[in-house]
Amino acid sequence: MNLYIDDNFDSGNIQLNSIEGTEITLEIRPDVGGEHMQWFHFRLDGAMGSPCTLRIVNAAKTSYPHAWENYHVCSSSDRDTWERVHTRYENGELIIEHTPDSNAQSYAYFAPYSHEQHLDLLAFCEATGLADISRLGTTLDGRAMHKVTGGTGPLTYWVIGRQHPGETMASWWMEGFLDRLLSPTDALARELRQKATVHVVPHMNLDGAIRGHLRTNAVGANLNREWDTPTLERSPEVYYTLESMRETGMHFCLDVHGDEALPYIFLSGPEGIVGYDDTHIPAQCELFGKAYEGANPDLQRVHGYPLTPPGKANMSMCTNAVAGEFQCPAYTLEMPFKDNDNAPELHQGWSPDRCAELGRSVIDALVALAREQQK
Ligand code: ZN
Repeated sequence: MNLYIDDNFDSGNIQLNSIEGTEITLEIRPDVGGEHMQWFHFRLDGAMGSPCTLRIVNAAKTSYPHAWENYHVCSSSDRDTWERVHTRYENGELIIEHTPDSNAQSYAYFAPYSHEQHLDLLAFCEATGLADISRLGTTLDGRAMHKVTGGTGPLTYWVIGRQHPGETMASWWMEGFLDRLLSPTDALARELRQKATVHVVPHMNLDGAIRGHLRTNAVGANLNREWDTPTLERSPEVYYTLESMRETGMHFCLDVHGDEALPYIFLSGPEGIVGYDDTHIPAQCELFGKAYEGANPDLQRVHGYPLTPPGKANMSMCTNAVAGEFQCPAYTLEMPFKDNDNAPELHQGWSPDRCAELGRSVIDALVALAREQQK
């Protein structure tokens, strides 16, 4: 029996150490710059029906080793439906024991989202006739960055995702969000488009995604640590986006992410920025969060990151930087790589479909915020 491991495709990441029978040892390749690694995506060929043991032997050296506890790998035989397969984190190794359903079985940290899917999403938005697609700039690997704008209202909202390229849940979320935002028939979407102009950057880190990175772009920059001083040499993705934000102004920003460790969906706000409590920001953040939780209880507001003390915000992060500069409410949305422990789904865990539903639900919360801000 000849088994093969391949990762030479869009968002592929694995290094083969050895194959002995059905025992396979692997390593995750670090992002450019070597500071981060955790994302993996590869295919095992020729093993249909054979119980295999795949060991990722450098799992303890990844960016968030504790995040492997209670984590189960995503696998697919058709690259469409991704099921969770039994996974153990033991002695610093991530061990996958699985019998492939096909001779071309894919494994990934989370259901991948390809560059082609991103291009299809832009084309879908264009085809609705309800969005403007504009070019923000060019990435360091020479790819076009695009912004989708829907609505014509006086309020200005921004929604961005995939700053961290390994967090593919943000792209699945964007599919649901943009589908509903640009619906010709959905009454709340229509109201939102009347009240607000919504600027969306569905994919901030095209280069990192194709390269199979966890957190950084083509030169190893963590885009969500570049918002205080973005440069064209190191972080053009942030530079162009912030430039566009300064042209439009902003009344709210949502930055969509995934969290490796926590098995919950949660929001993280700009409470650490200078003067936070003296502004309208806390009340409007609360209103948005409550409305979002009400629209979709997969989002909860009990578990999350600890609050940052006043004045201690990291201003290189999008949510803090824009809340500080534009004096508006802003949130980071975090979805899990694992599952929502309040409502687990054993077969798929936190899944592309649930991401998309959560993306659709945000329209309710944006309308609630717009009604308040228009008073
Ligand atoms: Zn992130």
